[in-house]
Amino acid sequence: MPKNFFASPKGMKDILPEEEGFWKKIYQSVEKIAKDYDFHFIETPILEKKEIFLKGVGEESELVSKQMYSLTTKGKEKLVLRPEGTAPICRAYIENGMSSLPQPVKLYYYGPFFRYERPQRAREREFHQFGFEVLGAKDPFYDALVVLVFTDILKSLKLKDFIVKINSIGCRKCRKKYLRALKKYYQPYLKNLCSDCQKRFEVNPLRLLDCKEEKCSLYKKGVPIILDFLCKDCKRHFKLVLEFLDYLSLPYYLDHTLVRGLDYYTNTVFEIFLGGEEEEEFSKLSLGGGGRYNELIKFLGGENVAGVGFGAGIERIIEAMKIKGVKIKVNPKDLFLIALGGEAKKEILAVWREIKKAGFKAAEAIEKESISAQLRAASKLNVKLALILGQREAAEKTILIKDMESGIQEEIPQNKLIKELKKRIEK
Ligand SMILES: [Zn+2]
Ligand SMILES: [Zn+2]
Repeated sequence: MPKNFFASPKGMKDILPEEEGFWKKIYQSVEKIAKDYDFHFIETPILEKKEIFLKGVGEESELVSKQMYSLTTKGKEKLVLRPEGTAPICRAYIENGMSSLPQPVKLYYYGPFFRYERPQRAREREFHQFGFEVLGAKDPFYDALVVLVFTDILKSLKLKDFIVKINSIGCRKCRKKYLRALKKYYQPYLKNLCSDCQKRFEVNPLRLLDCKEEKCSLYKKGVPIILDFLCKDCKRHFKLVLEFLDYLSLPYYLDHTLVRGLDYYTNTVFEIFLGGEEEEEFSKLSLGGGGRYNELIKFLGGENVAGVGFGAGIERIIEAMKIKGVKIKVNPKDLFLIALGGEAKKEILAVWREIKKAGFKAAEAIEKESISAQLRAASKLNVKLALILGQREAAEKTILIKDMESGIQEEIPQNKLIKELKKRIEK
């Protein structure tokens, strides 16, 4: 790193051309599957009022209490860099009167999100997510639909080896009973838990199940099972969700300790992990997750409208694709353009414009001084043909076509070039 140089902030990274293929492929899959299942694009601002997350995600949650980047404007407005996508989508739903549209409203988005935490594998402080949300939807059909969308996207990215974990955390009513049982269970072990869990015990006991500390995980085995505490409606809803997944032959694991980190979830919660031998069981890579939020829109000042959705980590999915050795072709080229001398460079640029119109993709290394150096660059790219223009060809309005495999080259008039390329390159 050069002296007197200012690097990017901790936990924030450049997305580089070497990963272009992964990013573009993921965005293409998201767009395609969104359209297939009739979701519509939305983009919300990167900054939101702090209250959206205080009210929506919960003041006591770690996300809100510890991990938000916040700032105060000159006008004393308290803003934060969005730490998650669902609360802003619900804010937008209310603000834009979407409850008067035909329901449900099916939205998808992607973009950067920010959490101030210790950077870890495939989780930087700035990270990217895509997400799908269905607002105005009570039916378990939609819980199944968002799981289907997520798994379809993973399959389209050649990630077939994943694990869907699913659970229901009930409604406000039945969860109250469960939390009492959970606290009773943990009470005798309280002093053995990590300091975060000791706080969770008081403010948000459900998140005791979410702790990744080894000493806390020990006690997870014997916890009361939340499904046993669900009220009739919650039980029925969850049963139907599972019936949909069974009908679609989408494999899942019931994980009764899965609760997700955010406070707005009700009923169904799910998370998808990378499966397979490459990963140790305890450190399975989480690709994203979501669930139902029947009260979030109401919490944010909207009508009593239910919703369900998920968010997926793009960096995590790229990591998974690398682990699984998924290869992506980036913008393959048909041709390499080579030119030497002022006139030839001008002509080759005009040639580029013409062949581009005919649908051919070309690369070049005009900056290099000699034809042989440019040819070496061409041979690295695995292109079929090189087009070479020297001073003589420029003056005579001809061009050399060199077959990179056989090495044979042929001189033809420039005005016959497109016809010749169409003969030699199948489109
Ligand atoms: Zn319930
Ligand atoms: Zn703990």
